[in-house]
Amino acid sequence: MNFENTEHAYKLKSNRELFRALYLFKLISNQRLVAFLTKFAILAIKFKLPISFLFKYTVFKQFCSGISEKDSIDEVDRLASYNVKSYMHYASESQKSEVGMDESLTKILDTLKFSSGKSALQFTVFKATSLGPIDLFEKVSAGIGLNYEEKNIWRRVLKRIEVCCKTARSLNVKIFIDAEESWIQSAIDDIAESMMAKFNTNKAYVFTTIQMYRIDRLAYLKKIIDKAEEKKFLIGVKLVRGAYMEKENIRAKNLGISSPICKNKKATDLNFDKALEHIIDKVHICNLFIGSHNEESIIKATKLMNKYKYKNNHPFIWFSQLYGMADHISFNLALEGYQVVKYVPFGPVKEVIPYLIRRAEENTSVSGQTPRELNLIKKEIRRRKINSV
Ligand SMILES: Cc1cc2nc3c(=O)[nH]c(=O)nc-3n(C[C@H](O)[C@H](O)[C@H](O)COP(=O)(O)OP(=O)(O)OC[C@H]3O[C@@H](n4cnc5c(N)ncnc54)[C@H](O)[C@@H]3O)c2cc1C
Repeated sequence: MNFENTEHAYKLKSNRELFRALYLFKLISNQRLVAFLTKFAILAIKFKLPISFLFKYTVFKQFCSGISEKDSIDEVDRLASYNVKSYMHYASESQKSEVGMDESLTKILDTLKFSSGKSALQFTVFKATSLGPIDLFEKVSAGIGLNYEEKNIWRRVLKRIEVCCKTARSLNVKIFIDAEESWIQSAIDDIAESMMAKFNTNKAYVFTTIQMYRIDRLAYLKKIIDKAEEKKFLIGVKLVRGAYMEKENIRAKNLGISSPICKNKKATDLNFDKALEHIIDKVHICNLFIGSHNEESIIKATKLMNKYKYKNNHPFIWFSQLYGMADHISFNLALEGYQVVKYVPFGPVKEVIPYLIRRAEENTSVSGQTPRELNLIKKEIRRRKINSV
């Protein structure tokens, strides 16, 4: 794999867009500035100050495809013209009330309907906690009994999730259930397993997400694959490292319990590699969707595919990166014929600000990726300059 082909990686970016990306990544690689802006944005949201304009032409343009599905479809088609598919997500994360959760359900169903029948949009996604109160996920995960009222609320949560998965299957669109914090994940895992057992009988429609930064996840992965083999259903796995490390470690420290997270990055990487090996060996039972910007992991996966003599476009293996990031991986993988799917979030600027803040923070804290992005963008700008003289 050659990820250095910047001409292909940035084919869709005009010079203007490339310079915008350059300045933006430079800006968000400044940890202090991002920390200050994040605090400011959180306060501004709390006091309902009009700050959308600050995001609209900067991080929103870089990391979101538009305000609505219709607004985003041109971008999806542009990506698809280079064999990079998409999965869309209404990235609002602020619903807490029953009405808000019903609205979230409507949005997920709208995206499913919009995606149906479009070859560029074969997946959709939802966060379980956008469809139910987080404290109930926490109680159920901890095995705490629910009272009468809570039981009714929980029944509605399960119903909403089932409607999403059922609709996905009937519309022939695959659907991911995102992974979240460890203290609510057991409830999500149980739901995901029951949805896979119910709907993945002849094809993997429902995909669970497994975070390999967790010490216990390799054993869990093996357990669900064994279960699927025994009970004759298919597993779909979105394999990621995990996004909540700092939160997890702080909580464990505050509670005086051992952290569920691997002791260092190397241990997480090793866990991720082992999961890749296990799934690729069992890919006929466990479809694999790799959500990572780590070049070594991607190369590891392509080598394993080669070892098993799988074609690059194996129908049960996908690679995925976030919109606005790691185009050098997405576009160059697609050029080699691998199945690539970008996560493409959309929504009104005001609603997606928490997602945008997380992207900015991630680009500040994930060592290695932002300097790499910056170098590649600079390389492409230089290449274009030389070619234009
Ligand atoms: C398409 C897609 C979907 C995603 N969906 C989800 C999701 O549903 N749920 C979710 O939680 N995340 C999700 N993520 C985010 C993902 O979990 C990672 O946070 C992010 O992709 C960075 O990991 P990496 O493999 O790309 O890169 P890398 O830079 O190689 O890895 C960074 C990651 O390594 C781990 N890590 C870093 N330092 C240490 C340390 N000291 N000790 C132990 N581990 C460490 C952390 O997980 C960190 O995020 C998704 C990412 C993508 C691309």
